[in-house]
Amino acid sequence: MRFVVDVMLGRLARWLRLLGFDVIYRPDAHDDQLIAIAEAEERTLLTKDARLLRNRRVNGYLVRSARWEEQLREVIAEFHLRAFIRAFTRCPECNTPLVEIDRESARPRVPPKVYEQQREFYRCPDCARLYWAGTHVERMSRKLEEVLNR
Ligand SMILES: [Zn+2]
Repeated sequence: MRFVVDVMLGRLARWLRLLGFDVIYRPDAHDDQLIAIAEAEERTLLTKDARLLRNRRVNGYLVRSARWEEQLREVIAEFHLRAFIRAFTRCPECNTPLVEIDRESARPRVPPKVYEQQREFYRCPDCARLYWAGTHVERMSRKLEEVLNR
């Protein structure tokens, strides 16, 4: 299940990526560009704008909720995504799947304390950010559980 989201749904895009879903978010794209992306890449267009879905052949879904937590629950329920959740496998910044790198090569790029505490490091091949299971991941995991299990 692949998505492209409109400019109103940046927060939702980020959290869907954190759950492992492939989501294109281009805040600077025009309506026609979003539709072109959805068509060309066979993505479902998630939007808050009903006009975008009118008289178009594009696969689209009108997101009803206002808050991102509810939007996330809404989209997961609508598309039955629960079984496909692979949390923290994709770069939330640029949508690229993360790859594990060996611990030694992470060493010069992370604080010494992090290197000592963590066994696994992941890198985004596109934007080169490094990821590891730090406190922010714990915080996000708790938030996700709270959102998904409410
Ligand atoms: Zn990235």
